[in-house]
Amino acid sequence: AVMFLDLDSFKNINDTMGHESGDIILNMTASRLTDILRKSDTISRFGGDEFLILINNISTINDINTVAKNVISIFNNPFNVNGHDIYITASAGIAVYPEDGCDDDSLIKNADIAMYNAKEHGKKQFRLCTSNMKNDVQNSVVLANSMYRIQERDELELYYQPQVDVITEKIIGVEALLRWNHPKFGRIPPAVFIPLAEKAGHIDQIGEWVIKTACSQNKKWQDMGFSPIRMGINISFIQFKNSKLVEKISDILEKTRMAPEYLDVEITESTAILETSYILDSLTKLKQLGVYISIDDFGKEYSSLSILKLLPFDRIKMDMQFVHGIDESEKDQAYANLIINLANNLGLTLIAEGVETYTQLEFLKSRGCDEIQGYYYYKPMNADELEAIFKKEYKTV
Ligand code: C2E
Ligand code: CA
Ligand code: CA
Repeated sequence: AVMFLDLDSFKNINDTMGHESGDIILNMTASRLTDILRKSDTISRFGGDEFLILINNISTINDINTVAKNVISIFNNPFNVNGHDIYITASAGIAVYPEDGCDDDSLIKNADIAMYNAKEHGKKQFRLCTSNMKNDVQNSVVLANSMYRIQERDELELYYQPQVDVITEKIIGVEALLRWNHPKFGRIPPAVFIPLAEKAGHIDQIGEWVIKTACSQNKKWQDMGFSPIRMGINISFIQFKNSKLVEKISDILEKTRMAPEYLDVEITESTAILETSYILDSLTKLKQLGVYISIDDFGKEYSSLSILKLLPFDRIKMDMQFVHGIDESEKDQAYANLIINLANNLGLTLIAEGVETYTQLEFLKSRGCDEIQGYYYYKPMNADELEAIFKKEYKTV
């Protein structure tokens, strides 16, 4: 068996305690590994904070499990570095000959895949490589490869989900939600392909297509005489890393002749918290252009008050979990209430996402939530379907 071992959050140690301390921990890890493994096993440092272990003479999976448990357990005790106790954990993945490969390259690759899986499942654990893991990776590679120049092939489509004012029940905005109609695999949801596009470097082009398409669609509706509404667009953190983002958006607004106030840029709470300096810079410029800015999935991870203070948001989008919890527990009702009050006190608009039932709607309405997005009113739909609704209910001129 080949085991790929990677220390969790090792970069933090280097960043906070210096590389010398990091080196000491790597040395100590190596000697702890040597202590618990057998003479017949081989330990090597593969690079950075990665160790590769060749486990020999195993007869059953149980043997591997025992060795792996021992390896993970060397991190139970702290590492004493210059008088300080440092706690660190590690994740490991294991590939077994011949099931997971017959040569060193494929065994190492599959052990690495299993290690990533262990990280994804919360770190400080080990995982054996499975055929599902291998298939997932293979499918991801196939998908990522077929994403090249996707925006030129008519495979992308925007759906629009209306956002409704709680009091007037009128549509005040829509959120553009991306769909990929793959020629072979059918419709692929954004939760699957957006992360792949981000990793494979395609998100800039795809994102630009989204902004262009959504803005010209919105302008078209305005030109048809429907009451102007805001068009919400999701912007990924990778797009924010591109220093040309604001310039691009401003360009598109000019070309499509859509007024900036009708563009609503959605940035997730997890993006907002990342690198506040360049995000602050981009958001401030967008704000100066007159663009509307929403913080998405608020409450999901950090609920950071400092980013609300620092970044120029107009609106908070309360994460769905609190809305769904309204039916279930008083505790979730309290959270929903808290977020509504927070927005009210800060003078920000609050929209609740994922509203599906009448009880949820009534609760939110009675507590002073401003806007609703969810299946209760409308599911995401294509441009034609939405246009039919506009024609029926909202024609003004
Ligand atoms: P999100 O921004 O939080 O979008 C809301 C998601 O909730 C959408 O899923 C929407 O269909 C779903 N939803 C709306 N109302 C309800 C409801 O009442 N109940 C339930 N259970 N779900 C509801 P969708 O369209 O699958 O999008 C998933 C995620 O993909 C989005 O989450 C967003 O993070 C990302 N995404 C979608 N389009 C784009 C895009 O153009 N660019 C980027 N970067 N990300 C996108
Ligand atoms: Ca969103
Ligand atoms: Ca959301």
